[in-house]
Amino acid sequence: MGRYTGPVCRQCRREGQKLFLKGARCYLAKCPIEQGTGIPGMHVARRARKMSEYGEQLRQKQSLRRQYGMGELQFHRFFQEALRKKGVTGEILLQQLELRLDNVVYRLGFAPSRRAARQYVLHGHVTVNGRKAAVPSMVLGVGDVVAVKDKAASKDFAQRALEAATQAQMPTWLNLDRAALKAEVVSIPTREQIAPIVDEQAIVELYSR
Ligand code: SF4
Repeated sequence: MGRYTGPVCRQCRREGQKLFLKGARCYLAKCPIEQGTGIPGMHVARRARKMSEYGEQLRQKQSLRRQYGMGELQFHRFFQEALRKKGVTGEILLQQLELRLDNVVYRLGFAPSRRAARQYVLHGHVTVNGRKAAVPSMVLGVGDVVAVKDKAASKDFAQRALEAATQAQMPTWLNLDRAALKAEVVSIPTREQIAPIVDEQAIVELYSR
């Protein structure tokens, strides 16, 4: 299945929670979730009935996948990768998602949303360790340095996004040099630092069925 290109807020409404997909608008009162807009589509009452355990697990997975703007296949690949690594699979999955290049660019405030960050990376505005990096799904590690390309258009976009990014808190696992528009990954984010919107264990159970 390809990337979702429909109405963005519909995804939050389907999951019944804010996935923060639209940047500054997500913090305003006109956010449909703030306004109490319910599940989209027909037969809403049927879908709103008490969900099965499988249904709950599926919603958790869909919420996390949609939050990071990923397709089913790519998300499943990230899960398989987390499964291969030593440690608690759910937490490793969260860490891998959080360390994606597009997410890091978003967390740094260089782009107003993950979707915008993905485009920004794809269009070659970002470097990693001094080299052009145009792969949004690239997973970073401790010591990696992300920087905005030394071009007026690249810098303008990031600077404007940074100035507007008053709501989001800068993660402590990133060390940002605001003037130079570059940052270093100083540690692997913990579950507490990521503050996931889902119960990741439910996703592990879903994929273990
Ligand atoms: Fe739309 Fe953002 Fe609200 Fe989600 S959180 S419904 S993307 S405004």
